[in-house]
Amino acid sequence: MATTTLSDTEIMETKTATTKYVYFFGGGKADGNGKMKDVLGGKGAGLAEMTNLGLPVPPGFTIQTEACREYMRHNAVSKDVDRQTEGALAKLESLQGQKLGKGENPLLVSVRSGAKFSMPGMMDTILNLGLNDQSVEALAKRTSNPRFAYDSYRRLIQMFGNVVLDIEKSVFEKIFDAKKGQKKTKFDTGLDAKALQEVIVEYKKAVKKHAKRDFPQDAKEQLVMSRDAVFRSWQNDRAKTYRRLNDIDDMLGTAVNVQAMVFGNMGETSGTGVGFTRDPSTGAKEFYGEFLLNAQGEDVVSGVRTPVPIRELEKIMPDVFKQLHDITTKMENHYRDMQDFEFTIQDGKLYMLQTRNGKRAGLAAVRIALEMVEEGLITKEQAIFRPEPDQLVYFVVPRLDEKDVKLENVLAKGLPASPGGAVGQIAFTAADAVKMAGHGNEKNPVILVRAETSPEDIEGMVSAAGILTSRGGMTSHAAVVTRGMGKSCVAGAQEIDVDEKKREMRVKGQVFNAGDWIALDGSTGRVIKGKVKTVPPDPNDLKLLDKFMSWAEPYRTMKVRANADVPRDAIKARELGAEGIGLCRTEHMFFGEEKIKHMRDMILAREDQYIPKALAEHNREHSTRLTFKELESADQSEVMKRAQKLARLAALKELLPLQRKDFIGVFRAMDGLPVTIRTLDPPLHEFLPSREELMVNIATLPYADAKRKRLLVEKYKDYGVKAAGDLKKVLRELLSRVEQLHEVNPMLGHRGCRLGITYPEITEMQARAIFEAAVAVAKEGVKVHPEVMIPLTATVKEMANQAAIVNRVAKEVFKEKGRTVEYLVGTMIELPRAALIADEIAKEAEFFSFGTNDLTQTTWGFSRDDVNKILPTYLADGIIKQDPFAVLDREGVGQLVKMATERGRKTRPTLKVGICGEHGGEPSSVEFCYQTGLNYVSCSPFRVLTARLAAAQAAAGEKLQIDAGRTK
Ligand code: PEP
Ligand code: MG
Repeated sequence: MATTTLSDTEIMETKTATTKYVYFFGGGKADGNGKMKDVLGGKGAGLAEMTNLGLPVPPGFTIQTEACREYMRHNAVSKDVDRQTEGALAKLESLQGQKLGKGENPLLVSVRSGAKFSMPGMMDTILNLGLNDQSVEALAKRTSNPRFAYDSYRRLIQMFGNVVLDIEKSVFEKIFDAKKGQKKTKFDTGLDAKALQEVIVEYKKAVKKHAKRDFPQDAKEQLVMSRDAVFRSWQNDRAKTYRRLNDIDDMLGTAVNVQAMVFGNMGETSGTGVGFTRDPSTGAKEFYGEFLLNAQGEDVVSGVRTPVPIRELEKIMPDVFKQLHDITTKMENHYRDMQDFEFTIQDGKLYMLQTRNGKRAGLAAVRIALEMVEEGLITKEQAIFRPEPDQLVYFVVPRLDEKDVKLENVLAKGLPASPGGAVGQIAFTAADAVKMAGHGNEKNPVILVRAETSPEDIEGMVSAAGILTSRGGMTSHAAVVTRGMGKSCVAGAQEIDVDEKKREMRVKGQVFNAGDWIALDGSTGRVIKGKVKTVPPDPNDLKLLDKFMSWAEPYRTMKVRANADVPRDAIKARELGAEGIGLCRTEHMFFGEEKIKHMRDMILAREDQYIPKALAEHNREHSTRLTFKELESADQSEVMKRAQKLARLAALKELLPLQRKDFIGVFRAMDGLPVTIRTLDPPLHEFLPSREELMVNIATLPYADAKRKRLLVEKYKDYGVKAAGDLKKVLRELLSRVEQLHEVNPMLGHRGCRLGITYPEITEMQARAIFEAAVAVAKEGVKVHPEVMIPLTATVKEMANQAAIVNRVAKEVFKEKGRTVEYLVGTMIELPRAALIADEIAKEAEFFSFGTNDLTQTTWGFSRDDVNKILPTYLADGIIKQDPFAVLDREGVGQLVKMATERGRKTRPTLKVGICGEHGGEPSSVEFCYQTGLNYVSCSPFRVLTARLAAAQAAAGEKLQIDAGRTK
């Protein structure tokens, strides 16, 4: 476990001469209250609040976050902390009439972390503290349950050994499993008191061996060591990752809660459980949860035993059930939000361990917000802030296409832990999932398959499209975390046998390996073999969403557009409320099968067949006439360039009608709304055959058999290969052209406006397609507002050069067609230089759109394609807090955005400014764009809802003076 000592200046200091470090709760009142989350952490504040409300909470005390910060600074806490801890312990002992770890009725306590923002499972916990060789006997006697006492003791040694003394969990697991093997039992409960005593002896030996010290018998020493270990756990890797992903300040520190233990494992009148006041998946107002009889809390959460629905409790212990229902309803009314609670029943008596605002899926977030307004619990204004903008993705996540699901392909049925369909290739470890998913906009879909997940898997879960576990319940780690992420999850699919070592999943006599395709239905719990098709969400859910959005939307002042390249996406985007297209990447229009050929021809512009024509043209214009022979030596490059241009023009001629057709579709879909069309921008390598592959194919061609040759003919058919006999010649020629076009650094190469400047005919063709399409739809009565956008400009002259072409072609087309349309010509700001001289560029550009994907790349000097080699380390080491390609880097890139907006508007006060990088759909970046005064954000269609809500929340927060305080 890493301990990091931070410099004093890095950590906020709230200490004063009279710092109160320890807050007591118990006996019906508490020193603190529910508002003191900064000081007491969420859990501590909740315990204080519950105590003050008269709920049955086991008493205890909270050591506040300042002590943790002190620990971070000095690797130790001050004497004051120790002194106040002892005082609170004495008070607890006297309230309980027990002594910690002493006497016939020893006091046992739990020691738990609890930061301001909930970080489920990320930090450490010690239970049953106070047990030692004597008190375990007392507990055995008092409860007349020696098995329970020894089991509690062995759990303490195991937890203490791992968390405090840093001994690998597997050391204890091996001992425990060996004992189960020896006693020929598969279950923990199969070990009796004697066997557990033997386990304890082995555990103590293991502690001595690995920690080079004895397990401490002094209960107070146990307490101090555990407290410090919990403080240290604030700095463990899982906690750091979680904070980074959830944007939680590293300097907050955690509080430590020391609380009298109550036991759910004291026999059949005891139990423990967790629950929600409403269904966290659908939001339905149903008391919802699960519990286990004769068990401790970790048995429920870890998924080792599969719990029973909470309604069963009503049959077994009706009074306790009623009390629990009443208390949790009271808490929901008190906090005016859906509660997530933990309880324990000890010998028929109910204790509340925790209640807090519960995490929920997107549908549930919207439904609960709507219904709580109807129930008079919250106002409409408050409701707007309840769903996290990202959660609205639920309403656009696909479901599995039932027509594509064959009954015989259903492999298993687990718990429907988090809704939505996910289809992907199996990965068995978090690291594999990250690797297989890749980085950037076009991720490979991966399904992470685990026996159960733990907080260590968080990076893999972020990367995966869906998660499948073979163990655990609806409140297991996998279920809770995926629900928050709006990601499909099937949990506890028990028929599935997951062998992570062999990277195999066995089910129904079939074996699945990494890379095999499976589908998950997180709404029914089905696991299905194969690459199942998916369908869009249920329109009935969208009705709920519409109502919710009708409350939020009136606050929104910033527009939301979509990045869409083809009519289909534009239609979808408009359905989701997009108010225009902010980026139509024209090169993406050509990704389709029959179109890409012309695009490649245009890029490759192979001159051979155009040489005679180029030569003839050349000779017409020059007094000195060249022959074919002379071409070899004389003015070769001029003629060759001309021939290439002719080749390009021929390909462009083919592209023009295709492009015009797509523009017509997009304009029609966006009738009345602006459509920003970007001229050609791709780094050319995206469209070319791989140079390395060509080299290999040429080198191995002499050894290729008939089958391989057939494959190669198919592969290169677009480049003029008709039969195997063509391969040698065509591949060589292709390689030589690819070599000519090869760039060491294509992302910074011949792309963006540089293409349109070096090959003006491309911009000309595109402008023609845009204006011909615009005129055509205008004649149909469509209100068309084209905005032609020039990418990657760095100088005003580049902008002027391209704007001149666009304006000239517009004039020509309008004249030819006898009709004009209003249009704008603007630019993307994607280079720091463009941001710096934005006032100059605005002289020529009628609008700006920040291409923050490239602007991030060029500001940081990180390659968009390769950053993943660096990023994981940077994030893990805390060098950077968030992936700047996902969340706009306000400090650096954000400054450029702000500056360019101000400078651009100085020149042209009405300058329309937007953003079309991936950040346009990320909530905190949207908030930044709003604060910077952008006119619109533009994002992928599936994030339009998210961007709309984020923009509405940003404006409403400002207007209503509400701390948007997204529930964390
Ligand atoms: C950008 O750079 O942010 C952008 C939107 O363009 P692209 O991602 O196509 O480079
Ligand atoms: Mg770009």
